[in-house]
Amino acid sequence: MRRVVILGAGFGGLELATTLSDALGGDIDVVLIDKNDSFVFGYSKLDVVFGRTTMDAVRLPYDAIAKPGVGFLQERVTAIDPEARVVTTDAGVHEADVLVVALGADYDMDATPGLAEAGNEFYSVAGAERLAQLLPTFSGGRAIIGVCGAPFKCPPAPSEAALLLHDYLVTRGIRDACRLSIVIPFGTPVPPSPDTSEALVAAFAERDIEFVPSRRVASLDGGRSVAVLDDGTEMPFDLFLGVPRHRAPDVVIASGMTEDGYVPVSSRTLETRFPGVYAVGDVATVGVPKAGVFAEGAARVVADALIAAVRGDEQPDGYGGRGSCYIEFGAGRIGRVDVDFLSGPKPTGTFREPSVALVAEKQEFGSSRSARWFGR
Ligand SMILES: Cc1cc2nc3c(=O)[nH]c(=O)nc-3n(C[C@H](O)[C@H](O)[C@H](O)COP(=O)(O)OP(=O)(O)OC[C@H]3O[C@@H](n4cnc5c(N)ncnc54)[C@H](O)[C@@H]3O)c2cc1C
Repeated sequence: MRRVVILGAGFGGLELATTLSDALGGDIDVVLIDKNDSFVFGYSKLDVVFGRTTMDAVRLPYDAIAKPGVGFLQERVTAIDPEARVVTTDAGVHEADVLVVALGADYDMDATPGLAEAGNEFYSVAGAERLAQLLPTFSGGRAIIGVCGAPFKCPPAPSEAALLLHDYLVTRGIRDACRLSIVIPFGTPVPPSPDTSEALVAAFAERDIEFVPSRRVASLDGGRSVAVLDDGTEMPFDLFLGVPRHRAPDVVIASGMTEDGYVPVSSRTLETRFPGVYAVGDVATVGVPKAGVFAEGAARVVADALIAAVRGDEQPDGYGGRGSCYIEFGAGRIGRVDVDFLSGPKPTGTFREPSVALVAEKQEFGSSRSARWFGR
């Protein structure tokens, strides 16, 4: 095994390239490909939306990557042949001994009629920037945070958006002129952790935020400014913050690797059914939520297996499906949930109460990744 081609330089791809370089340096040839020129942490989008920072301040440019054995290419992947392990991009063709697909999940705006025209998705970089421009013009009325389908990235993020929107409206002195609602397709905000869910539901109640569980937003009627839920219920709105339906990128679907929308893998090894081809992160069906910490954990497992193969060592243990997510509770406090998806018969989660100390811990989470992946 000489050449590892990693498609996607997000949480999974960056962690994989870094771990391989740290262990093997110039003894391995890693090609890391992404269509963008920079990485943005998912949670930074919320900071941008609510005016706590700007997109320029949180972008991490890929040209800062300087790791032995790793070459970054800014190219768009246009075709993947998993049988031959050959990737075509808008700039050329790349052959791999080991191919790792880490292309994340895309947003399917067309799956929710009216969302593109009447709603504001805040899950993409462009959407977050647009909403940051729009929010200051909102002067009051009914605001809905609505999820259009599961699975979606970072299950606590819509709850965080609701609590941060509350704070934002309080700061602007217009909270009393607004009604806030959150619609999510789960029975509770964070299903594997009843304690976390209870704390979030209590935080909604304290702030007079209406919580609509077990429903998804099926369409928006822009003419009447109404969100239509999957049971036909209509909710009028003046401002709609949407989480679009997700799906694997088109190029992954076209490669024939997907089943039910995502790439099936062994949840222990992250191997696909194609020899020498792995999939990590949001693009794969692993049995864990779509979140950066899980993409990163899966990437480490693949890296460890490849490092052991190069060194002729015993193969390491498989993926454990554990991770910690920080949750913005508003009022300058952050909580944490430690979840374990794969080691027991069912997922479990342990909640840490929101605190100021966890604000610092989340900052350290981001700055340690930035230093490790980008050297800054
Ligand atoms: C608002 C919000 C808040 C979040 N908060 C958190 C949080 O607090 N903690 C957490 O762990 N997770 C959080 N997440 C989720 C997290 O961002 C994702 O789950 C994580 O980034 C997934 O990592 P990944 O490597 O699978 O994919 P990604 O990080 O999405 O990376 C995929 C990469 O593939 C590239 N790509 C896609 N298609 C192509 C193509 N055709 N050619 C070339 N490149 C391509 C993309 O440009 C991208 O860089 C949040 C997400 C959002 C939207």
